[in-house]
Amino acid sequence: MSSPIRRVAIVGGTHGNEWTGVYLVKQFQQFPKMIARSSFETITILANPKAIAANCRYLDRDLNRSFASEDLANPNLQGYEDQRAKEIAAQLRGVDVILDLHSTTSNMGLTILPSTPDAFNLRLSAYLSQQHLDVRVALGMDCTQDAPMLRSRAQSGCTIEVGAVAQGVLNAHFLQQTEQLVYTILDYLEALNQGKSLTVPSSLTLYQAIAVVDYPRDATGNLAGCIHPQLQFKDYEPLHPNDPMFLSFTGETIPYQGESTVFPIFINEAAYYEKGIAMILTEMRQVECPD
Ligand SMILES: [Zn+2]
Repeated sequence: MSSPIRRVAIVGGTHGNEWTGVYLVKQFQQFPKMIARSSFETITILANPKAIAANCRYLDRDLNRSFASEDLANPNLQGYEDQRAKEIAAQLRGVDVILDLHSTTSNMGLTILPSTPDAFNLRLSAYLSQQHLDVRVALGMDCTQDAPMLRSRAQSGCTIEVGAVAQGVLNAHFLQQTEQLVYTILDYLEALNQGKSLTVPSSLTLYQAIAVVDYPRDATGNLAGCIHPQLQFKDYEPLHPNDPMFLSFTGETIPYQGESTVFPIFINEAAYYEKGIAMILTEMRQVECPD
């Protein structure tokens, strides 16, 4: 992005039971100086107030899959999240960078999911990986899906996923880590706007999603097994061909049957059972950072 950043949006509670983002955004709203920077405006959005009040992910549909342009333009979609998506899309008009704060029940530490792998986002991701050694950068497959996420409403930005933390629970470690990450990003954008030189690594490690794996199921679609105990909480660790993947309810180990080593993420994410996702397989790639 060569033009200056004028507006940044920090979003929490896109999923109502992911409290890290909910409470951070409430804190930012109470103490706006924490996120104020001189060269751009920062707005905050509590994305799904009714789901936050009910401590659930969503009421009618997943808000973070509700930002397709045709859905936003469709007056017949009148569910609560359909309405919120339209309101939020209007609020996000003119926003250059979106930071959407989430948490996960998977052991993903501090994960950045850039909206697109463009030069701006790659450089930001590389900078964050350097500043926060725990940060990992993952690229989802959602750019090819027809259910765009909230972060797609701006050219730049990312989803931040932290975990493992249970739904409806605050974990001080992840709360602080997310808060620090937000400040680092805001300071980075401020330095960019002010033309200050920033040391950005020339390459970064990226986990590119390549496949989605569902749980073993019986003929009627009911679960027939669960994540193998040796794989539980092993997000970002190499999974080799024939390594244990699932444990069937009859006690059999079901191995990973792919031909190459992969790095699973979102292993046993609570919210993904309904989506038919037991984990997302990624490839680890070294990517050059464009100047
Ligand atoms: Zn979420």
